[in-house]
Amino acid sequence: STQEKTPQICVVGSGPAGFYTAQHLLKQHPQAHVDIYEKQPVPFGLVRFGVAPDHPEVKNVINTFTQTAHSGRCAFWGNVEVGRDVTVPELREAYHAVVLSYGAEDHRALEIPGEELPGVCSARAFVGWYNGLPENRELEPDLSCDTAVILGQGNVALDVARILLTPPEHLERTDITKAALGVLRQSRVKTVWLVGRRGPLQVAFTIKVPRPRKRLTELLLRTATEKPGPEEAARRASASRAWGLRFFRSPQQVLPSPDGRRAAGVRLAVTRLEGVGEATRAVPTGDMEDLPCGLVLSSVGYKSRPVDPSVPFDSKLGVIPNVEGRVMDVPGLYCSGWVKRGPTGVIATTMTDSFLTGQMLLQDLKAGLLPSGPRPGYAAIQALLSSRGVRPVSFSDWEKLDAEEVARGQGTGKPREKLVDPQEMLRLLGH
Ligand code: FAD
Repeated sequence: STQEKTPQICVVGSGPAGFYTAQHLLKQHPQAHVDIYEKQPVPFGLVRFGVAPDHPEVKNVINTFTQTAHSGRCAFWGNVEVGRDVTVPELREAYHAVVLSYGAEDHRALEIPGEELPGVCSARAFVGWYNGLPENRELEPDLSCDTAVILGQGNVALDVARILLTPPEHLERTDITKAALGVLRQSRVKTVWLVGRRGPLQVAFTIKVPRPRKRLTELLLRTATEKPGPEEAARRASASRAWGLRFFRSPQQVLPSPDGRRAAGVRLAVTRLEGVGEATRAVPTGDMEDLPCGLVLSSVGYKSRPVDPSVPFDSKLGVIPNVEGRVMDVPGLYCSGWVKRGPTGVIATTMTDSFLTGQMLLQDLKAGLLPSGPRPGYAAIQALLSSRGVRPVSFSDWEKLDAEEVARGQGTGKPREKLVDPQEMLRLLGH
């Protein structure tokens, strides 16, 4: 059938999940055509807007994604927000299959009193700010206090702590935004606490892969108990900034300053562990502790949003209900990445799971489970978008923006100076 010859497939989202799904489909099916829709005018999702600026090697995956985008059977359409500019039913009508790979764009709320006070912000917004995410570009966090508290002990919490503590001159040659670097240069933050409800050993012993955890636990124990050698002791004594982990503490309230105008601390309930193995829970002992600070960053997780009323969504787990990437009860609709599994796992995990989704889709195609007959693909969507006044940004448009960013970075020795204003990006493209 025609469908078997030229399946028209689209992917929603151009982060690792979107690009790895597209890569798999293009590689494993010699005729498949894949369009990638992205709401930002620029591609790569959290590789651009999440991964810390001082970890440039992680961003090398962009080279592979660029190769995928250069395939004659792949197209990138940025500046198109699915659910707003075009609906999922419209995409399903135009394509043989649709893959939702739109990530996890929300943050989990702390749900404690005082959370709305100035001086409290989500780690997600803070990361978006230093990485040039358009919606966070005006965040300008107030770093005039000496202590910051990060609620959460995951990788994102560690990234944020490192950015707050790194001497700004060490960030000068990264792709951190100029504005963020300016604010960090003025920072008076000296101490950063990372607060977690549970303890190091409990974390180490309940996860499924014991070996890396065992190593991590040993490292934590060694650092905490071993006396440093003379050189290390001198280095620590001369350090102007410090950080620490506070275990067994559960946030109860953000404490206001005397005038009630901003955050001045966090009230923590001391916890202890109950139960064994997977069932271990942190329960309050009844003791409280107040930790004074001027900045509170909540880093208790990302969360996906529902994209379109026609797509099933599990709002409790924050994912699209699916079996190995096949969206439940909706033939021809698939998902991959954080919106499929929830917001955990590194890029490599996302790659594996996206390849698996691609494989399921191709199996269904082969089994004749996808619509038969030709589908118009982008031609139909282009007409809809243009009738709605939406002008997509192509991959070659992105390459112009990319060149502009690289050029702007050159004078200061940065790999790029990111454009942070979508209007400016569109202007540069003559849109
Ligand atoms: P995303 O990367 O979020 O991509 C989703 C894309 O969909 C985005 O481009 C978004 O704009 C787009 N989108 C959303 N809604 C719509 C819509 N309605 N229409 C069209 N497009 C839409 N992993 C590592 O391996 N190393 C690291 O150092 C590392 N650092 C990280 C740092 C942070 C702060 C975070 C949050 C994660 C980090 N990760 C790291 C994890 C890694 O980023 C994720 O595993 C991966 O990005 C998930 O891929 P995804 O494609 O599912 O989501």
